[in-house]
Amino acid sequence: MDASKGLIVLKPVLHNNIWGGRRLAEFGYELPDGPVGECWGISAHPHGDCTVDGGPFDGMTLSQLWSEHHGLFEGATGDRFPLLVKILDAADDLSIQVHPDDEYAREHENGSLGKHECWYVLDAHSHGHIIVGQHAKSREDFSAMVRENRWDDMENFVPIEPGDFFDIKPGTVHAILGGTLILETQQSSDVTYRVYDYNRRQPDGSLRELHLQQAMDVIDYDAKAPESGEVTNPEIDGITQLMTCKYFSVFRVRVTKDHPVTLTQDHPFLNLSVVEGEGGTVSVAAGSREVRLGSHLVAPCGCGDITLEGDMTLICSFVPTE
Ligand code: ZN
Repeated sequence: MDASKGLIVLKPVLHNNIWGGRRLAEFGYELPDGPVGECWGISAHPHGDCTVDGGPFDGMTLSQLWSEHHGLFEGATGDRFPLLVKILDAADDLSIQVHPDDEYAREHENGSLGKHECWYVLDAHSHGHIIVGQHAKSREDFSAMVRENRWDDMENFVPIEPGDFFDIKPGTVHAILGGTLILETQQSSDVTYRVYDYNRRQPDGSLRELHLQQAMDVIDYDAKAPESGEVTNPEIDGITQLMTCKYFSVFRVRVTKDHPVTLTQDHPFLNLSVVEGEGGTVSVAAGSREVRLGSHLVAPCGCGDITLEGDMTLICSFVPTE
């Protein structure tokens, strides 16, 4: 039994955001004072590098594991842990924003990764909406809408329900609106171009910076805006595929007392986040860990099959390899 092939449980990093609330406490996290918008559950990003909780790597950061124990992620390439998994509590509306792709970010953002992201909706106000996509057909069209404050003409509102899923490609205008809890899986990037922030003031009275030129550079004016986030893929043995792109594959796992689930771990690593239910046990050959609502962990390369028992829903992700 190789203890270094055990599960890597992470301590999340919580962030204050002007649009945040207090609901992340429902996941068992100790919140700092003030509005808290984001829990970075699996992250090696310098703006929130998670620390290992227990096991042989206790106290190390995920970025240290990536650079000093890369065998845990064998087969994954690149100079940094590539994914970031967050839970967001939007008490208020997030700014209307767009993210660049790798090429644009590399050139304009100091070598940063671009940001492809996706959302699994954990909770939403009844009759809740979010913004995904926009209706301007060209840069000129978009620029005119912004100049004339025609936000309603520009934004594509989509109704949301718990269990919905959205693939937000780079270049997609989007905003998570108030009353929404979301699990976000994304490239490990923090590059956001704000289009509109509702003229909202920060506690010190200032406005947050907008980045309209960059936003207009990266918006995909040809993209078709979605009408729904309903998941239509079937659930097979507790597993529902949500999406795959070159950066990540994401799936949902539902475990009940009567139906444990076993996952094959043949990827460089597998991220697991418990997003609903009481929790349970996650086991690999090297040992078991108790998990509860809000737990985030990484199953390393070569850990063997992963058995999930208890009463919980997880969102899992990995980096596809050829
Ligand atoms: Zn975003």
